[in-house]
Amino acid sequence: MNWNTSVEVSMDALRTTATAVLDRHAHDGLECVVCGTLWPCEQALLAERNLAVL
Ligand SMILES: [Zn+2]
Repeated sequence: MNWNTSVEVSMDALRTTATAVLDRHAHDGLECVVCGTLWPCEQALLAERNLAVL
């Protein structure tokens, strides 16, 4: 595995994880259904930020 392939695999894993987090952390009204905190919750914000830099 060369350097480029390794980076691409890592990016793919990060993208998959971030997408899964965003799938789970949905909002019901004003709150996240997983965290129970005001939407957008920390997890969703983090995942969105990760997706934005990919
Ligand atoms: Zn959440």
